[in-house]
Amino acid sequence: MSNFFNFIYRHRYDIFSILVLVLLTTFVITFLPQKETKELINYMENKSFDIRQRIISKEKKSNNDIVIITVDDPSYEFLIEKYGDWPVPRNVYGDIVEYVQSQNPKYIVFDLLFIKSLKRIPGSDSKFLKIYDKYDNIYTALNFDDYDYNLRIPPIIDKKISSNIKFNENNIKPIKFTNCRTILQEIIDKTDKIGHINTPKADDGFTREIPVFVSYPEYNQDTLKEVKQNNYLYLTIKLCIDYLNKYENANITDLIVNNNNELILGSRTIPLTQNAKTILNWYGDTGLVDNTTFKYVSFWEIIKSIEAEKNNEKSILDSDTFKDKIVFIGTSVFSLSDIKTVPTSKSLPGVELHATLFNNVLDNNLIHKASLQYNIIIAVLLALLSGYTAFKIRSVYISVFLFSILIMSFLYFSTYIMKAYNVWIWIVIPLIFALLIFVSSFIVKYLLKSRDFEYTYKLATTDGLTELFNHRFFQEQIKNKIEYANKTKGEFSLILLDIDFFKKFNDKYGHQAGDAVLRHVAKTLKSCVRTEDYVCRYGGEEMTIILNNTKNDAAIKIAQKICDTIAGKKYELTPDLEVNITVSLGVATYPHNGKTSTELIEYADKCLYKAKENGRNQVGFIE
Ligand code: GH3
Ligand code: MG
Ligand code: MG
Repeated sequence: MSNFFNFIYRHRYDIFSILVLVLLTTFVITFLPQKETKELINYMENKSFDIRQRIISKEKKSNNDIVIITVDDPSYEFLIEKYGDWPVPRNVYGDIVEYVQSQNPKYIVFDLLFIKSLKRIPGSDSKFLKIYDKYDNIYTALNFDDYDYNLRIPPIIDKKISSNIKFNENNIKPIKFTNCRTILQEIIDKTDKIGHINTPKADDGFTREIPVFVSYPEYNQDTLKEVKQNNYLYLTIKLCIDYLNKYENANITDLIVNNNNELILGSRTIPLTQNAKTILNWYGDTGLVDNTTFKYVSFWEIIKSIEAEKNNEKSILDSDTFKDKIVFIGTSVFSLSDIKTVPTSKSLPGVELHATLFNNVLDNNLIHKASLQYNIIIAVLLALLSGYTAFKIRSVYISVFLFSILIMSFLYFSTYIMKAYNVWIWIVIPLIFALLIFVSSFIVKYLLKSRDFEYTYKLATTDGLTELFNHRFFQEQIKNKIEYANKTKGEFSLILLDIDFFKKFNDKYGHQAGDAVLRHVAKTLKSCVRTEDYVCRYGGEEMTIILNNTKNDAAIKIAQKICDTIAGKKYELTPDLEVNITVSLGVATYPHNGKTSTELIEYADKCLYKAKENGRNQVGFIE
C-alpha cells in the first residue's frame, strides 16, 4: 500500500495534469458544444449502433411462428389488374382473412389502415366487417397525426381502445398527437383490439425505435378543447400482452412502468426511452432481399390459392402455412411508401417492424440504453487507459499500437455487451475522450521530458559554486567556435583571468569568504559581457570568457574594462569589512594567436603570466 502512495506521490504532477486534462475535456464536451455538435455526436452514435446491430444480427434467430403477408410489387400489379384500382375493395381482405383463419392461426394483425374517408363500397365493406363478428383474434391499426383542426376536426376515439398505463410523468413523456385519421367506426364498435402504428423516424431517416404508447387527447367536441390525455398502445404491444396472457398465462392486468423506465409484461421487460419509445433489436438480413428473416407470403399467392380451392385445384400454399402462426398483414410495395430504412436494411417493409417487435418482446431482448453513470465510468476508464499507454510506454510506435488495440477491444466490448446483454453503451463520446486524452498525454509527456532534459543539461554544464559554465562546457564551446570561425572566416577572442593573491585572501579571511569573492567576480564578469559570450570557470580561481565574433583590440578593451571594474569597487565582505579585489588577465584571439584550443589557451595563459609578472591588476601582453 505504501508503494502505491509512493507511486502517487512521485507522479503527482503527471496525475494532476491528466486529471486536469480529463476535467477540461469533460468541460469542453459537456458545456461548449451547441446543438449541432450534439446532433453530430448523436448521429455518429446512432451509426455506431447500426454497425453493431449489423454485426450481431447475423447470429440472431427469428421466430418461426411469425408469417408476414404482404402486398408486394407483383401482388400490387396483380390486384390492380384484377380490381382496376388501389385500394382494392375491402372484401378482398375479408377473403384473405377467411382463408388464413381456415388454417387456425393464433392471430391476424393488420398493419393496414381501413380509413373511414377512403372509398367505401357498401357491399364489400359489410362483407369485410363480418370477420370482426366472427373472429376475436384480429388486430387492427390506427394512425395518429398532427393535422390542423381546421382541416380535419380531431375525432373522438372510443376510450375502450386506450390503455391505462401507470408511469412517472417526470421521467416519461409520450409523444403527443393532436389529430387522428379514423378508421371505419364499425371496426371500433366491434373490437378494442386496435393499436396505433406511428413510427417516427430519427433525424437521419432511420427507424430504430417504436413508440410503445403515445398520447392523444379526449376532446370536447363543441369547444375542441382537450379534456384530458389518454394513452394508446402500439398495435403489436397490445398483441404481445394478449399473447402472453393467453399462451403463457402471464396474467397481465395492470400496465406499470417501473422506476427503471421499464414496462413490465409478466416475465418480459420493455425498456422505454424518455418518449416512451423502445429500441428494436434487429434480425438478420431483412426486408425485400431473398433471404428474409421472417417468412413472407405474397397476397397474390393467397388469392391464387383461394381460387384454386374454389376450382378444386392444387393450392400453391401448404394447408398449414398459417397454422398456429402470428400473421401480420401489410404492404411491401415501394410505391405505397411503407418502406423503412433500419439498421440492418435500407428497404424494410413497415410491417416487419411489427414482426421484429413481437419477436423482441418474446425473446425479451429489446435494447436498453446504458445509464449515464455507466457510460461515464466506461468513458473515464477508457480515457485513463489511453492516457496511461501514451504516458508510460517509451516507444511512440508501441503506445500507438497499444492504443489501437485498446480501441479495438473497446469496440469489441461494446458489440459484445449489445449481443449478450442487449445494452447499448456509448461509443462516440468515449472514443473522442480517449483520443483527446491519448494525444494530450503525449503532449504532457514531452513537456515533462523537455523540462527534465533542461534540468539535466543545466546540471551537466554549470559550475555549482559560481553558476558559470563549467570547464567541460568551455572546452566544447571553444572547439565549436573554432569550427564556426573556420567556416565563416571569422574571429573570436578568449580572456583568461586569475584572481590576485587569492591564496593569501583565503588564508586571511577563510574559504567561505573566498567562495563569496568567486561568486562576486563571476557576477561582475557576466555584467561586463554580452549574453552571447560564454563566461566559464576554468578551475580554481581562474575564469575564462569566450567572446563571440570579437577581434583582438575589442577583446583587450573588454579585458581592461573588467580589470578596472573589479579593482574600482571595493567588495563588501561583511557589513563592516570591505576588501580590494584585483584580477590579472590575458587575451588571445583566433586565429592569430593559435590554431587549436590548446594553443589559444596557452597564449592567453602566457599573457596572464606577463600580467602577474608586471605587478598584477592588469591585462598582460607578450612583446
Ligand atoms: P596569484 O596572484 O599569483 O594568482 O596568487 P594566488 O594566491 O592566487 O595563487 P594560486 O593560483 O597559487 O592560488 C590559488 C588559490 O585559490 C589556491 C586555493 O586556496 C584558492 N582556491 C582555488 N579554488 C578555490 C575555491 O573554490 N574556493 C576558495 N575559497 N579558494 C579557492
Ligand atoms: Mg591561480
Ligand atoms: Mg591567483
